[in-house]
Amino acid sequence: MSTTITTDTLHKALKHFFGYDNFRLNQLPVIETILAGNDVMGIMPTGGGKSICYQLPAMLLPGITIVVSPLIALMKDQVDSLIANGIHAAFLNSSQLAETQRNVITQARNGQIKLLYIAPERIPSNSSSFIDFLRDLNPSLFAVDEAHCISSWGHDFRPEYLKLAILKQNFPNTPVIALTASADKLTQDDIVKKLDVPRAKVFISSFNRPNISYYIRPKQNAVGKIAEYILKHKDQCGIIYALSRASTEEIAGKLHALGIKAAYYHAGLDAAERSRVQEDFQKDTYQVIVATIAFGMGIDKSNVRYVIHHDVPKNIEGYYQETGRAGRDGLKSDAILYYSRGDIMKLKSFAVVEGNPAQTAISMNKLKQIEQFCESDTCRRQYLMQYFGEPFPAYCGSCDYCMSSLEERDATVDAQKLLSAIVRTGERYGTGYIIDILRGSASEKIQPAHKELKTYGIGRDVKRDEWELLVKQMLNNGCLERTEDQYSALQLNHKSHEILKGHSNFMLVMHKGVKEKIMAEEEELAYDEQLMKDLRGVRYELADREHVPAYNILPDNSLVEMATYLPQTFDELKQISGFGDYKVSKYGAFFIKILQQFAKDNNMVSKVHLKVPKARASKKPAEPKQASAGNTQLASLSLFRDGMTMQEIADYRRLSLATIENHLSFFVNEGTIEITQLVPQRRLDKIVEAIKQSGQMVALKPVKEILGDDYSYSEIRLAFEFYRKGGK
Ligand code: ADP
Ligand code: ZN
Repeated sequence: MSTTITTDTLHKALKHFFGYDNFRLNQLPVIETILAGNDVMGIMPTGGGKSICYQLPAMLLPGITIVVSPLIALMKDQVDSLIANGIHAAFLNSSQLAETQRNVITQARNGQIKLLYIAPERIPSNSSSFIDFLRDLNPSLFAVDEAHCISSWGHDFRPEYLKLAILKQNFPNTPVIALTASADKLTQDDIVKKLDVPRAKVFISSFNRPNISYYIRPKQNAVGKIAEYILKHKDQCGIIYALSRASTEEIAGKLHALGIKAAYYHAGLDAAERSRVQEDFQKDTYQVIVATIAFGMGIDKSNVRYVIHHDVPKNIEGYYQETGRAGRDGLKSDAILYYSRGDIMKLKSFAVVEGNPAQTAISMNKLKQIEQFCESDTCRRQYLMQYFGEPFPAYCGSCDYCMSSLEERDATVDAQKLLSAIVRTGERYGTGYIIDILRGSASEKIQPAHKELKTYGIGRDVKRDEWELLVKQMLNNGCLERTEDQYSALQLNHKSHEILKGHSNFMLVMHKGVKEKIMAEEEELAYDEQLMKDLRGVRYELADREHVPAYNILPDNSLVEMATYLPQTFDELKQISGFGDYKVSKYGAFFIKILQQFAKDNNMVSKVHLKVPKARASKKPAEPKQASAGNTQLASLSLFRDGMTMQEIADYRRLSLATIENHLSFFVNEGTIEITQLVPQRRLDKIVEAIKQSGQMVALKPVKEILGDDYSYSEIRLAFEFYRKGGK
């Protein structure tokens, strides 16, 4: 089995069978490991490309590969897309007629199937008959998809998965590959144990999804803004998540009224209706689905261009999984979340589980983290990556925080007005009420006595948004407190009194209007819109004729590449991503015809020679785009150059130490300052030693545990980067 196959051969096979130019993430080492006959456990984020990890070996190994997968809807889709590549694949699940199932089994026995997908409920319950069944098929490889289902630690335990231990026990020489997107270490260990593959090589890919841009927006007229966004992105499709069934229907209704092809989806619909909506979305009949979280599990639509959260999600895991449904084809996509404190309060009230304080505490903690994510003034991606235990620099260049340039102004006077309004109303009211007083709201909610206060209306000149920002930043910087009860009353602390007395200033950092980056339009590639429409049309016709979703014929970026490079011959077409040999011969002629006509009409020639194979996010985990430094970072840098320590800068600027560390680490990444100027050599050595001792290069926490309280996360993060770039 272990005849060595060269990397070059594997690249050729990838192109030949699947039409892809490059491997993604850990696909290549995973595949090499399997082909050498070893077991593998692969951890990759949703959309990372887990399937190729077993599909390509399946094509290179003799005989059949058995794939166990729990998602029936996904199974059909996967098999369809294999068939679209001319690969013999089939599935067995309970949605089929008995006769169909018998046919599939016969074909498998006769060696007519390369990949057989089996749903766990189709595994014979008696283990000896299961083993006999498998012996008959004599498989070359077992793939266990969504492997976390075997673990009761995971979020989706399926008891039938426990039967899979017999695979390795009875077929010790057949490699097993377990795949999951679960980032949780406990679950990972459990999978290895329950599948009985102690020698499995573990591959963990970065959880970063560089092609997704993250935005968090205040929730004001959210539906209006969502509609505007959708109308601006006419040719693109997306998912909108809302928390309640009623609101999915309401939002879908409003969008529909604006002429947007939107449908809603939630667990209250019957099964037939649900699968109809899902299919119509796959086929692009609907542009937008407004759904509760029930939607998406079984969805493998690779060209979802945006995921919008109309309501705040309950935890970071869920949010990340849902946003991960965007951009599985690797093209730029947006994740937009509309945030309000009201949502958080509502979720907090739902999170209380009567008589179960432990469960309540877990849910509350998760809510706190999502609240922090929405309110913190840092790179969104950095926050997410650290949440999942991956070090990440302070700037990604493609989130709302990084894309807005920042400006700072002295807001001491406003801060004093705010603080005095809080004091004069007895430190008993939340942000909304206090701002109402400052802005002199005529609302009946305002107590008559409060309308007599000197502070009533003294802040009319400042916009409501800006007051909210001020409160948020004062809270973040410890210049203000908020009670933990349902009132979230604002209260003063020592630092607030300093500001009130004029002993210290407060600087407000403001975003100079976030530039809405518009995705597809921003791709550097330029192409003719009409040609693109025509190519899309051909794809639609082919899909319609074969009753498959359009992206099954070809993914969107194949169309973009064709429209850009105008291939004129079959050989040139082979250089377009997504065109394996099978698809070139099956569909090539339809596209070539249009491309030739276009070139002729416009007096143009093929530009395929300009195409440099795009090295995708394949090797390096997350090469952040060059971000430009905002004023606030530059201010920190200049103080640093004046000889201040980070702590001194933090005190001087009244920003947190972590913020200053973030600012300066930006300049380390950029090469403006040396790491040893921030972390003394001696400490750096200690941290690097601890990293080595921890035996991994992903998570900060184990390293911090070795080092103890004396070392900060930011220092460790800096050292990680230094070490990863080859520093000793
Ligand atoms: P996962 O199972 O990890 O969520 P999939 O295996 O469904 O992800 O892959 C996600 C998408 O990426 C699919 O549309 C797949 O065809 C595409 N894909 C996978 N590997 C590659 C690659 N090497 N190059 C380009 N596209 C790829
Ligand atoms: Zn960022």
